[in-house]
Amino acid sequence: MVEVNFKKLSINNFSVKNHYLTIVRRFVQITAFLLINYYIIEWIFSINTYGLKGFASYFPILQSPRSGLSDEAGILEIIFFQGVNGIFPFLLIGIFIIMILLSNRGFCGWICPIGTIQDALSAIPVKKKKFKASTNKSLLKIKFFIITIIVIVVVPLGISINVNPTFYLDYKTNVSLLADKPIGFFSLSEFMFSSFPDVITEIWVSGGLGPLFTNPWVFIFFMFYIIIIILSVFYPRFYCRYFCPVGAFCSMISEQSFLKISRSPVKCVGRYECGVCEKVCPKQIRLLDEPFEFFSGNGECNLCLKCMEKCPYKAIQINFG
Ligand code: SF4
Ligand code: SF4
Repeated sequence: MVEVNFKKLSINNFSVKNHYLTIVRRFVQITAFLLINYYIIEWIFSINTYGLKGFASYFPILQSPRSGLSDEAGILEIIFFQGVNGIFPFLLIGIFIIMILLSNRGFCGWICPIGTIQDALSAIPVKKKKFKASTNKSLLKIKFFIITIIVIVVVPLGISINVNPTFYLDYKTNVSLLADKPIGFFSLSEFMFSSFPDVITEIWVSGGLGPLFTNPWVFIFFMFYIIIIILSVFYPRFYCRYFCPVGAFCSMISEQSFLKISRSPVKCVGRYECGVCEKVCPKQIRLLDEPFEFFSGNGECNLCLKCMEKCPYKAIQINFG
């Protein structure tokens, strides 16, 4: 009987052994993408998954952003949406924090459908670019600025809804759609799964570009996200790194995670002799400047494990505890 060792399988220059972690990650990402957007499964297999709706409601992370089967979008949007309505979502915040403590930013690297789409965009074979370290550091602050804006909108609404309904209504009118969709404007998933298909459908039906210019904000956001998508081809995980509100929250907690990546001081030969790990990191993390026992790039590492896979000296390990 012929035994196939998949770890050693080699097709031309492509070796499964050298891409083992990437292959497993891609499999998990594609599976998660289909499960999260289970209406795609309905479409492919012509089945009705409506019966899953009640079940999926208990796992907001499984809900597809604004799909026909979803009441709401991702877990952070539900947290903010409940905040606007005066509910402090202890349970969801608890689930969110526990998820990061147990799996670090594994969700970003292995599960998030928008992360998967960005990885697909960066797989387009063009020369990848990197920002100067100082520029990268400054750009990383954008997502915290976005989160601050959302909190400034949500907290006064959540507090005033019961104690000062007049203020609540005035303030809500002033912040307008930001109160209805606290994360929506800053969400690439909202754009890709909801706004973009809507606008394209309207353009198709009307037979002209008119729907793009009905409101200046429609045009501005449309172009903004198209630019982000184009930049994601050249700068891997561009949206993740600089704009994602979920990424901002995750990076604030992930340094406390039990799941950590470390580098062996005995095996690692350093940046000048090697430096492969930093070259392959899609998030431009200067991990060789960080302590051996734990690196995270200030919470930016999304555990894609590319550095671990490519390290020629097997100096990078993943630990729990
Ligand atoms: S790839 Fe491995 S050996 Fe090379 S610098 Fe990075 S951790 Fe050290
Ligand atoms: S440091 Fe390693 S695991 Fe983290 S994002 Fe970079 S390549 Fe991926």
